[in-house]
Amino acid sequence: MIFCEYCFNDKEIASIIGAVSASNTGECPICHHKDGHLYDTGTQNDLTPYFEELLNIYTPSSMLPDTYPKAETRSLIDDLKGRWNIFANIPRTQIYEILKSVCGELYVSVPELFDGTVGIPELYDSIYLQDHALLKNNDWDAFVVEIKTQNRYHSKLINFGILEKYCSFIRKTYKAGNLFYRARISEQSGYPISEMSAPPAGKSSEGRANARGITCLYVASDIDTTLHEVRAGVFDFVSVGTFRLKQDITVVDLRAITEISPFVEGLEYLDHAINKQYLEKLNTEMSKSLRRSDSTLDYVPTQYIVDFIKSIEHNDMREYDGIEYNSTTNPGGYNLAIFNPDLFECIAVNVYDIEKLQYTSKKVL
Ligand SMILES: [Zn+2]
Repeated sequence: MIFCEYCFNDKEIASIIGAVSASNTGECPICHHKDGHLYDTGTQNDLTPYFEELLNIYTPSSMLPDTYPKAETRSLIDDLKGRWNIFANIPRTQIYEILKSVCGELYVSVPELFDGTVGIPELYDSIYLQDHALLKNNDWDAFVVEIKTQNRYHSKLINFGILEKYCSFIRKTYKAGNLFYRARISEQSGYPISEMSAPPAGKSSEGRANARGITCLYVASDIDTTLHEVRAGVFDFVSVGTFRLKQDITVVDLRAITEISPFVEGLEYLDHAINKQYLEKLNTEMSKSLRRSDSTLDYVPTQYIVDFIKSIEHNDMREYDGIEYNSTTNPGGYNLAIFNPDLFECIAVNVYDIEKLQYTSKKVL
């Protein structure tokens, strides 16, 4: 069977195909890309160990323990697509054939894995989860309840070693000179440059990434995003500061979590399957804007996790300068929460008049 790197969304698999089939290019019979690197399972087996190892985390439904929730079993193809986003938009029948031909021996010995439904037993094995899950009890909601209402500062529910390890896979560097934006609702005359940075320590109010009193600079990727994030009303004047990065920095990019490949070196497939959900949850929680009726208590879970990320050190130096996360108020934009506001300088302030707002709504009752 012949396919190419464009049959896959997974970057690791695509780069392996690009490397091992460097000299064999042409039109792909599966995705019809005109100039793919063609991988031929008749003569090549470089992908086999990667897929065999990934498929090894799955157990056919007939062999799962009785306690495994039946509703959580599904076909291998659905799980590979849903959990890992490995394949590009190619037909299911082709995915099935690719798996069968890459993992021919495995197909002969355990055909149920490919033809029936499957599950990952460790996902519901509380003893295994204690040591391997980012949240030891495998329950984000229970963590939220504990940290908001029972034990604010010394939760035992998080495996910090695992969180630290994942952070190292989603680090991102910004070079000095990069520009970001921060908005404040103001008078028409606007704020001076000196009043555009984060409030000083002791004076700051709380946010997703900082408790009250702890300083943190929130900046956005572009002007439109920062106008959305500040939730300016119609006819408001908004001062938008342009912030220039003074030195190279490294941040934890929560937006990249959904893109970490299961095939990346250094992560166990099984642990990755268990923990991906929490990291995605963390990005979602960071991105949520608070409704007026919400309590600032809702900030506590992310504040707690961000404080830990802030405490990670390497050679007595802080390892990360901030967190990057999606903007929900302006999809496509993103935000940075920067631990030390002095890493940026505000170089200009412009005042905007909000002329029109566009509301999108959904009937809920
Ligand atoms: Zn292809």
